[in-house]
Amino acid sequence: MATQELHSTQLLKETMGKYFRTLGECESAGKKVAWCTSTGPAELLRAFGFEVYFPENHGALLGATRTASDYIPIAVKQGYAADICSYLTSDIGAFLEDRTPLKQHYGLSKLPRPDVLAYTTNQCREVQDWFSFYAKHYNVPLVGIHPPRFVDNVTAEHISDVRRQFESIVPTLEAVSGSRFHIDRFRETVRLSKEASILWRRVLETAKNMPAPLSFFDGCIHMGPIVVLRGTEEAVTYYEALLLELQNRVAAGIGVVSNEICRVYWDGMPIWGKLRTISNLFQASNSVVVASTYCNSWVLDTMDERKPFESTAEAYTQIFINRSEQAKEKMLADFLSEYSIDGIIYHDARTCFNNSNSRFGMPQRLQLLTGIPALVIEGDLCDLRFFSEGQSVTKIEAFLEQLIESKMEVEA
Ligand code: SF4
Repeated sequence: MATQELHSTQLLKETMGKYFRTLGECESAGKKVAWCTSTGPAELLRAFGFEVYFPENHGALLGATRTASDYIPIAVKQGYAADICSYLTSDIGAFLEDRTPLKQHYGLSKLPRPDVLAYTTNQCREVQDWFSFYAKHYNVPLVGIHPPRFVDNVTAEHISDVRRQFESIVPTLEAVSGSRFHIDRFRETVRLSKEASILWRRVLETAKNMPAPLSFFDGCIHMGPIVVLRGTEEAVTYYEALLLELQNRVAAGIGVVSNEICRVYWDGMPIWGKLRTISNLFQASNSVVVASTYCNSWVLDTMDERKPFESTAEAYTQIFINRSEQAKEKMLADFLSEYSIDGIIYHDARTCFNNSNSRFGMPQRLQLLTGIPALVIEGDLCDLRFFSEGQSVTKIEAFLEQLIESKMEVEA
């Protein structure tokens, strides 16, 4: 995390606090709630006036508060394997125990009850099973979009297939919300989502500067609104403020570290319970993780309010996690070059093979292609039993040392 905390952190707390309070008040205010996957059809749901809740965000919170490991065994007892998505297992486990960190952090006495659940399998099939559990428990409708997976080039056929799927969930959303679909409302949420996405991309791109004013670890904190408030004014307002602060930092030459030597790319999921520890490790070596696949997953800036169905179908089909190995390789190579990367770290998350890109030869292929050294560390997004801190710290320290040495040699 940046040595000097970003002032926008206060606005972030207020924005997220308001979002959760609104969710907490839905039942008494008679407002309808939709649960949605993190790269699901949030814009369409908001066009019907639903307040939108994201279980993955809850999973990340369980990871960040290091409570996930308390709940995973509860889900395992229900038959969910310990090595499937630890967002899923920790979230379902916490639900079965009637526990949530939202109580302590945002004053919510319980999770907002869903009126409908909507998922997209553009990221993984796990979300379908996860949401099915809740649909059954609450006895409410479940709608799903199943884009073609592992796509190389996104074609017009792919987009028209996904567009039809988006359109096919409209009647259910009309029935549950009690309101007719209005294309202009959908255009508006798509426009707001696009605006927030463009701002978010520009926020991330400030790290192309040297020194970088924000790191991947800062991004993991400040990405909250682009995940849970896509399609709202609040997300736009928040990222306008954050971008301005970062631009001021760039102008003043303020970086995450005062003497930036080494620039690293992080591929894969964050290790939520160890963000601070790992961030400190980089800072101690005057190194910064300046870019990541993860934070870029919510750059959905190809949305276009003039063609809301097609453009959301396209944006949600072309995301990194939904692409072929070749397409991913190309996207990663572009990131490495654009952000002047010295080394890449792949986090092989034990419970998320969907977002772990080191298992099919990518590190070797990309190193051959770009000459940029790679390191693979093993861990997990939430389940810290799969993360050996001592071993990973040693590996990262040695890797950074080696990167710095070779940089010094080149510069000498
Ligand atoms: S992409 Fe990975 S972490 Fe995210 S919901 Fe799917 S399995 Fe879980």
